Amino acid sequence: MSAERFDVVVVGSGIVGLGAALAAADRGCSVLVIDRASEISGASIRNFGHLCFTPQSGIARDYALTARELWLRLAREAGFWIDGAGTLVAARHDDELQLLRELAEQREPRTSADLVEVEILDAHEIESLAALPAGSTVGGARLPLDLQVNPREAAQAIRDHLASRGVEFRMRTAAGRIESGRVETSRGSVDAGLVVVAVNHDIDQLFPDLAERHGVVRCGLDMLRVTADLGRAVAGPLLTGWSLIRYSAFTGTAASEAVRRRLVDARPDLAALDLNQMYTQLPDGSLIVGDSHWKGPTISPFQPEGAATVFLTEFERLFGCRPDVVERWQGVYATGPQEFLIDEVSPGVLVTVVTTGIGMTTGLGLAEHVVGGHLDAAAIHLTESRAS
Ligand SMILES: Cc1cc2nc3c(=O)[nH]c(=O)nc-3n(C[C@H](O)[C@H](O)[C@H](O)COP(=O)(O)OP(=O)(O)OC[C@H]3O[C@@H](n4cnc5c(N)ncnc54)[C@H](O)[C@@H]3O)c2cc1C
Repeated sequence: MSAERFDVVVVGSGIVGLGAALAAADRGCSVLVIDRASEISGASIRNFGHLCFTPQSGIARDYALTARELWLRLAREAGFWIDGAGTLVAARHDDELQLLRELAEQREPRTSADLVEVEILDAHEIESLAALPAGSTVGGARLPLDLQVNPREAAQAIRDHLASRGVEFRMRTAAGRIESGRVETSRGSVDAGLVVVAVNHDIDQLFPDLAERHGVVRCGLDMLRVTADLGRAVAGPLLTGWSLIRYSAFTGTAASEAVRRRLVDARPDLAALDLNQMYTQLPDGSLIVGDSHWKGPTISPFQPEGAATVFLTEFERLFGCRPDVVERWQGVYATGPQEFLIDEVSPGVLVTVVTTGIGMTTGLGLAEHVVGGHLDAAAIHLTESRAS
């Protein structure tokens, strides 16, 4: 039976799938994106919208720096809100400030063309930028390279922009069997030169053996959106000490272990939630507040109220005022021992999964490196074989 044919078929319309579609469209390919949901509704709209480039290291940093250029380009082309004020980090203890100073030294500009990545701030500076009460910190930092988007509008705007460039989107269309050159979907078969599988945690359903081999399970996160009278705007995504024991550039510092030990010893209740106490403020003034992390093969649909109670109590301790909850939701992403699961499971079938909570930061860059790289190599191969 003959099937439709596209140069590239992408399964999943989250930020990684959109990045794959962009990489393919930029190279002149015909592209189909399928998604089983009726609209973009996965992790890519449920997150903080925090594009945290400086806190990454290794391959994640390479992907992040490529993603940064793509985010800036897409915001221009697709016309969505992007904020360049940079991440703020509030240090409430000397060891947190020490960690930030260490990172600032590591990332000191080597040439005059390099951007300053870590600006150390005194207590007055961080408190006024982050709308915190006077005397609540010992100092902090600003990470000027970092960006912020509103996840509820950014992914949809990128989708509309790609559609205007000829990328076809087929929603309410689930992928089943995937093999080299062909995807069986709930609306029939599609032939493809390249298949990109960007289904996040659902990789454990489409390719269960692969997920098991790589130790990939699910991570469920509780989130809130709140309003609060802070007196002024928070000038950028705000991280706390709990974030300093998460992201790899922070945990790579010598000071990190002391921060972790102190926080875990002082607040085992927060450590049990695997808390990342952080905040992003949306253009309407409301704040996204989170988050807790529950890991396992299945995430309970029932969210214990304890996590939300902690978020609200800790919000009040930090900002000095009680917030009102506007919305609650749960997000899920794939998690594993490595930060990424990238595999060509059969010739021309690329699996691209971010297996930790940095897909908004790295996903566009991952797609450009992996999918763009694959297409470039295939084009070189074709040119060479035609020439010989
Ligand atoms: C609460 C929360 C907060 C976060 N905060 C941040 C942050 O501030 N910064 C950051 O960098 N990262 C953050 N992350 C992580 C980031 O959001 C994710 O890593 C990223 O969105 C993953 O993108 P994705 O495209 O792989 O997945 P998704 O956006 O989940 O998209 C996967 C898509 O695949 C589709 N799909 C699945 N199976 C099939 C199938 N069989 N057929 C067809 N379609 C299928 C799904 O319907 C879905 O639309 C956060 C995540 C969560 C949950």
